[in-house]
Amino acid sequence: MQRILVTGGAGFLGSFMCERLVAEGHDVICLDNFFTSQKTNVAHLLGKPNFELIRHDITLPIFLEVDQVYNMGCPAAPGHYQYNPIKTMKTSVMGAINMLGLAKRCGARILQASTSEVYGDPEEHPQTESYRGNVNPIGPRACYDEGKRAAETLFMDYHRMNKVDVRIVRIFNTYGPRMHPYDGRVVSNFIRQALQNEDITIFGDGQQTRSFCFRDDLVDAIIRMMNNTEGFVGPVNIGNQGEFTIRELAELVIELTGSKSKLIQQPLPADDPTRRKPDITLATKHLGWTPTTPLRDGLAKTIEWFQSIDLNDYRPPTP
Ligand code: NAD
Ligand code: UDP
Repeated sequence: MQRILVTGGAGFLGSFMCERLVAEGHDVICLDNFFTSQKTNVAHLLGKPNFELIRHDITLPIFLEVDQVYNMGCPAAPGHYQYNPIKTMKTSVMGAINMLGLAKRCGARILQASTSEVYGDPEEHPQTESYRGNVNPIGPRACYDEGKRAAETLFMDYHRMNKVDVRIVRIFNTYGPRMHPYDGRVVSNFIRQALQNEDITIFGDGQQTRSFCFRDDLVDAIIRMMNNTEGFVGPVNIGNQGEFTIRELAELVIELTGSKSKLIQQPLPADDPTRRKPDITLATKHLGWTPTTPLRDGLAKTIEWFQSIDLNDYRPPTP
């Protein structure tokens, strides 16, 4: 039994992480400022004796005694992280400094939820961890991409200088139940639009690609990385290697929902990566992990969840 802090623990991935860790019997502290999430994501855990919820912003210091920290607090969808780009950068950088300081003081192991966005619009395909990326440092995505890159730098410097026990995972596009239905990400947009028989908005020609990983596979890999005993620090890519064009994704969502929606084109956002696919050789070697959920099955589960919620319960992000 470990005392575990999950920042961003009320979010899409964080809430499932808390659920898994509570079920494993750990003492879990969920810390969140609810910028892009709502308490309903963790409401089912509130009565458990080994779960605690704290409203706190990680740009500010906090003093807690824990054995492990999963640092997942950060808006992740382009519409969310561009809402207040300066705050996004502060969350990544000051949040990393505060959580690394906490880990250093407690002697805790700390894992950073980094991202495939550190590769920017990649010139290497598929992306390996040694690829240094192609990020526009002054573009509209930079607050997130560069913030996450700076956080990786801080993690490695605390590791080298202060011997903090760090782990870095680079997460590729992940989807599943509890995605914010209005986060503007492609999976949530397409499912919501299909279920309401609204036009499905393809940005650009829809030939850009992404590789979509189901939430449960992703969280499994992250927990393995945290508990890896080889001293493997990473960074390690975590994602599904199935690569789909955005148009293929739209067609699959229409098929699975039986929707009457039509595909329409909208302008491609600036700096939108043209293709993305993880090389997961390192994850397989060090974590004994490969994703097991095909896109079709994961989407079916996600659609089922979207059908079960009331969209009026969700609100756009607030400052
Ligand atoms: P999410 O928006 O659902 O979760 C992020 C959580 O962090 C939310 O609950 C939000 O309220 C909280 N948060 C934001 N700023 C905060 C702050 N300053 N202080 C405290 N809490 C704060 O997104 P998610 O998809 O669950 O992402 C979780 C983590 O995984 C993020 O760090 C994200 O960058 C990373 N990630 C996710 C994906 C993906 O495809 N889902 C891909 C790459 C990386
Ligand atoms: N996208 C789209 N329609 C939408 C939302 C997104 O065509 O309604 C595209 C977007 O331009 C990008 C891809 O889908 O090429 C994935 O977008 P998302 O925001 O989900 O993730 P990211 O770009 O961060 O990988």
